Amino acid sequence: MKVRDIIHEIEQFAPLAYQESYDNSGLIIGSMEKDIKKVLLCLDVSDDIIKEAVEKKAGLIIAHHPLIFDSIKNINPLTNQGNVIIEAIKHNLCIYASHTSLDNTNSSINGYLAENIGLKNIRVLVPKEGVLRKLVTFCPADSIDKVRTAVFGAGAGHIGDYDSCSYNVSGQGTFKASEKANPYVGKKNELHFEEEIRFETIYPVHKEKEILSVLFKSHPYEEVAYDIYTLNNHYINSGSGVIGSLEEEMDEFDFIKMIKERLGLKVVKHNNVLNKKIRTVALCSGAGSFLIPQALKKQADVFISSEFKHNHYIDNQGRILIIDIGHYESEQFAKEIIKSVLIKKIPKFAVEISGTEKNPVNYY
Ligand SMILES: [Zn+2]
Repeated sequence: MKVRDIIHEIEQFAPLAYQESYDNSGLIIGSMEKDIKKVLLCLDVSDDIIKEAVEKKAGLIIAHHPLIFDSIKNINPLTNQGNVIIEAIKHNLCIYASHTSLDNTNSSINGYLAENIGLKNIRVLVPKEGVLRKLVTFCPADSIDKVRTAVFGAGAGHIGDYDSCSYNVSGQGTFKASEKANPYVGKKNELHFEEEIRFETIYPVHKEKEILSVLFKSHPYEEVAYDIYTLNNHYINSGSGVIGSLEEEMDEFDFIKMIKERLGLKVVKHNNVLNKKIRTVALCSGAGSFLIPQALKKQADVFISSEFKHNHYIDNQGRILIIDIGHYESEQFAKEIIKSVLIKKIPKFAVEISGTEKNPVNYY
């Protein structure tokens, strides 16, 4: 199986278009055309991961954190990053990162954490902008059903819990076919008036190639008339963090105890006690302190994430219960999520979670 085929499945689930502008998700080392027999999953690519991949004959490593994030000026074997790059190339390994593209997919890590602690009505905390586009096409009335079905089938027309969303209005199109043309209706060199439907629908940008391909195949005109608009709408299926509510409100310490049990945590850090019941819960895997203002704005009683600074604990006393569950602890589920995506799509392919990776943070 080619690296390209594996990555295609991952990006259907966690499209690169969802990643943050500062990120470097995607194929970092190696070729899309390489044939591989096994995938190894981890959070961070280390020397041990490279050794494990070589030993297990895994040609592709899929990590959560990008091995190359900031620009690099040299590759020095005396640094961890430099050595890993050199060893990966020496052993002909490919390395791919699904980082904020995975984080910003609401059904991935954050959705998993939210479901695991029993949240209901789970929504994205800060929906992403710049992901949605609008397609408008003009089609003879007798062919519009075929075009609509094809375009919806390729992933257009989803708004929240609704699918097949579009707007259709009748009008009259005009055109004059040249001598070289082969018009579906009308005559060459004569101005033609055709009853057409203006069909418009919304789609996420990563579906565009497929949508345009089926539009061109299903539309009867030799030259398909269509427009693409960039939208500023928020996309509620993608973005940073999630928010949801408990079915029944809980005391703060019962809540802390519950998340420790459900997420298998030895220890958590938290700020002051609010002395109020917990109902609305916001969370973000990894380092999510930048979302505290959004959690407060949406009236969350608690915000769960990691890597809070001293001032976050101080500034939010009495305002919101902040719980730090650890960076690794919050993101370790990424490996299981990617594994289940690949196994579902390519059941016979070997996908293995690293057996050597451990939390780099130790507690004493
Ligand atoms: Zn992280």
